[in-house]
Amino acid sequence: MSTPPRIQINAARLHQHIQELAQIGKIGETGVCRLALSKEDREGVELVKAWMEEAGMEAHIDPFANLIGRLKGNNPDAPGLMLGSHIDSQPYGGRFDGAIGVLGAIEVVQSLVDSGITPECDIEVVAFCDEEGCRFNKGLFGVRGMTGKLEANELERTDKNGITRREALMQFGCNPADFEDYVFQQGRIGTFLELHIEQGPILESLDAPIGIVTGISGPLWLTVEMTGFAGHAGSVPMSMRRDALLGSAKIIVALNELVQQVPGAPTVGTVGSLTVFPDSRNIIPEKVSFTIDLRDIDLSRRNALETELLSVIENVSREHGLTYTIREDTNSEPRYCAGWIMESLREEAGAMGISPPELMSGPFHDSLAMSYVCDYGMIFVRCLEGISHNPKEYATPEDITLGTELLYRTARRIALEKTGSQA
Ligand SMILES: [Zn+2]
Repeated sequence: MSTPPRIQINAARLHQHIQELAQIGKIGETGVCRLALSKEDREGVELVKAWMEEAGMEAHIDPFANLIGRLKGNNPDAPGLMLGSHIDSQPYGGRFDGAIGVLGAIEVVQSLVDSGITPECDIEVVAFCDEEGCRFNKGLFGVRGMTGKLEANELERTDKNGITRREALMQFGCNPADFEDYVFQQGRIGTFLELHIEQGPILESLDAPIGIVTGISGPLWLTVEMTGFAGHAGSVPMSMRRDALLGSAKIIVALNELVQQVPGAPTVGTVGSLTVFPDSRNIIPEKVSFTIDLRDIDLSRRNALETELLSVIENVSREHGLTYTIREDTNSEPRYCAGWIMESLREEAGAMGISPPELMSGPFHDSLAMSYVCDYGMIFVRCLEGISHNPKEYATPEDITLGTELLYRTARRIALEKTGSQA
């Protein structure tokens, strides 16, 4: 029988933090709603900032509403080690998504400080703003802002209440005018490590508490708007209708079939949001807009599926007398974790007496954007039945402790090296 690994972090403190943060924006018994740049988000940021300072970091909020804490290393010119994730949530979200990556990172720094260790390079802990993307229909805002990857007109995107991101940022206390002066220093960060719940069922099916991520399959996000013609549901004959919802329904079914063409492939396609106008039981729907989320670790296969989907939209529109527009909201390519970081994770896990399985990430994470500016690695923590973006989301304290312990040991190893990066 193997002995459980010796835990060097302070697990009790970590779980206390997770519980406390879960009280902010709490919905029901176990859920949270901390929409990006909301009052609850701000409250969460203030609490996490206080914990960063307690752990010995200097903390500030950057113009993109990212919360960043810094522990100074011996060599301020060495590329830094960044650890973190996000604390914003979906409207009907769970306590662990993102939060364990931020609170785990703070625990890593606090444990280093408690052990009297001074890192060679600076260590930064970050809670990125608006990873989820649900409020303004585009995710990874903070990390893309920090790394200089914002697109035109992002500040004019509106939420369901018509509030623009610009307004939301100002309400949060950030000034978008400061974006102009902000320049991301290439090379400031050498390595990014993120701890996150898996948000899928694979680790559970393997009976493994944690896993080492090999890469992230980037999503394609489209918004499709179909336009037909409204008419009385009682009087317009079926043959004369231009029903935008009927056409949309056919496209949604076709997407579901397209992504299952290759048996066993990890391809997934989802329509998760639908708006019907005028949305009345006795009026033929005139305008329907819906979102498409398409993911695959194989980019050429995903691109081929997109082409097939576009021809379905064209054919269905012709058949039902509809017009359409397609807006591309996000188009990310798959990004792979750095080999040397995966090797460090394997070795540190080995020293803990465990050998975690390796798996791809279907969901995107802040790491996806970080992969364009530095090497990155990710640790996944098993979650109950793969449930996430749901108040029922659950990971055991033991599994989270194990994931944070591996984060700690790997971060310590990287931070004690002279350069901070082996890129
Ligand atoms: Zn997340």
